[in-house]
Amino acid sequence: MRKGVFVAFCLLLAAVLIGPVGHTSAAPYFRDVGTTHRAAKEIYYLAQGKMVQGSSSGYFYPSKNVTRAEAAAIIGRTLNFDGTQRATKFKDVGKGNFASGYIQEAVEKNIISGYNDGTFRPNQFVTRGEMALLINRAYSLGGNTISTAIQQLMAKGIAQGLADGTFGQDQPIIRADFAVFIARAINPKFRVHYQFTAVQQATVNASTLNVRQGPSTNFSTVAVLKKGEKVEILHIVGNWAYVRASGIEGFVHTAYLSGMSPSNPTDRLLQYVKTQTIIIDPGHGDYDPGAVANGLKEKDINLSVALKVKSLFEDTGFRIALTREKDVFVPLSGRVDFAKKMNGDIFVSIHTNSGGGTGTETYYYSAAATNPYVEKSKKLAQCIQKRLVEAWNAADRGVKKGDLHVLRENNMPAVLVELGFIDRKEDAKKLGSSYWQGEAAKAIYLGILDYYASESGLNFQPLYDRVQ
Ligand SMILES: [Zn+2]
Repeated sequence: MRKGVFVAFCLLLAAVLIGPVGHTSAAPYFRDVGTTHRAAKEIYYLAQGKMVQGSSSGYFYPSKNVTRAEAAAIIGRTLNFDGTQRATKFKDVGKGNFASGYIQEAVEKNIISGYNDGTFRPNQFVTRGEMALLINRAYSLGGNTISTAIQQLMAKGIAQGLADGTFGQDQPIIRADFAVFIARAINPKFRVHYQFTAVQQATVNASTLNVRQGPSTNFSTVAVLKKGEKVEILHIVGNWAYVRASGIEGFVHTAYLSGMSPSNPTDRLLQYVKTQTIIIDPGHGDYDPGAVANGLKEKDINLSVALKVKSLFEDTGFRIALTREKDVFVPLSGRVDFAKKMNGDIFVSIHTNSGGGTGTETYYYSAAATNPYVEKSKKLAQCIQKRLVEAWNAADRGVKKGDLHVLRENNMPAVLVELGFIDRKEDAKKLGSSYWQGEAAKAIYLGILDYYASESGLNFQPLYDRVQ
C-alpha cells in the first residue's frame, strides 16, 4: 500500500474503532500535517491523547524546534502529570509559565534538571541527544548518559538515526521528530521493531477493565478485560501499563491490576536496594600501617576513602557496613567473618599499592572452589575499575585475578581495589588529598551502582544524580 493510502486507511480504521465507544471527541486534524506528513500517525496519536496541541487556527508547525518547556509539558502529559501552573525552583520559570507545573514535577521525578546557576532556560531548544536522555529517564529505559540513552533508543526500535548514519545528537529536534520518538517510546506498536518480553505479570481486579490505545482515558478502548484475567506487562508509562492478554495489546491503568511490584520506578528501586548489604573493607589498621611512603600511611588512606564511600551510600536505602571505622587492627579472617555475619551481598576491599608502578588495578578471585561468585566478582571489579580510572585519569592497570584471603574465603561477589602507588610521587599526591580521596569514593560508589543497575535492570538515575 502506498503510504498516503495507508495513513488514510489507518485514520478510517481509527474512526471505525473510536465510533462505538462514543465519548471520544472528533479526530484531530492539522492543516500543515494533513494525512500524508511522514509523522502524521504519531502526531495524531499524541493529539488524540491531548499530549500535543496545535494552534487555535489548526496548525501543528511540525518543523519548528522544541523548547525545554514544551518538552517538559509533552512528556508530563504522557505521564499524566497534574499540569496546574505553580511556583518552581527555577528563577527563570515563574508560576505564569504555561509549563511550570510540568517542569517542577519533572524535576521532582528526576526526569529533567536545571543548570548550576539556578536557571532552567525554558526557551532553549532541546537537542536530539538531550531528547534521548529525557525519554530514557521519563520511561525508565536505562540509559543515564546521552550516549547510553541513544543506544537504548536504537536497541528498542525508538530511534534509527539520521540518513548520514549519525544520531545528530547536537542538532535541535523538531516537533515532528519529537512526536515520533515520544509515540514510539510510549506505544511499542509505533516502534521500528519490538519484542514483547514481559517484565512482570498481574491480575485484573476490576469487574471490567478497558484496554486503551494509549496511556490515558483520552484514548479509545480497544478491548475489555474481566476480573481475574491475567495480563503480562511489557512496560510502564506513569500509572499505566502496556499489557498483553488474550492476544490483545494495549494500555490499562495500574490501579486495576493486582500482584504488581510497585509501579513507580523510584519505589521499585528503593524496594530493591533495601535488600542489599554492601561491605566496605578498609585494608590494614593500627600496628599494621600497610605501605608507607611520601609521608603517607596506607591504612589512613584506605580508611578515609572507605568512610567517604559510606557517607555517599547513607540515605540511599542500601545497607552499608565497614569492617573497621577506626584505626584498629582486624585480621583478614575477621574481615571475612564480619562480611558473612552481616549477610553481605558484595564486598569491596580498599587498598593502596606500592612497589614502583603507577595507576589503578582491581582484583577478583577466579577459582570457584571457595568463592563461587567468579563472574559477578569480575563484573563488579570491571565496574569499579572503570570508574576509578576515569575519576583519577589514572593509568589503567586493569582487572586482575588475585588469590587474596578476603576474596578467596568470601561467599559473595568480592573485589579488592588498589587505588594507586603510595611510593610514586604523582599517585601519592592524589592518595594524600582529601579532594582526590572524595573523587575515588565517588567512583567506587558509581561503580557499585553500575554493577547493581546491570544486575537488576532497574533505573538507578536517582542514585546517580546524588553525586553528579
Ligand atoms: Zn594493602
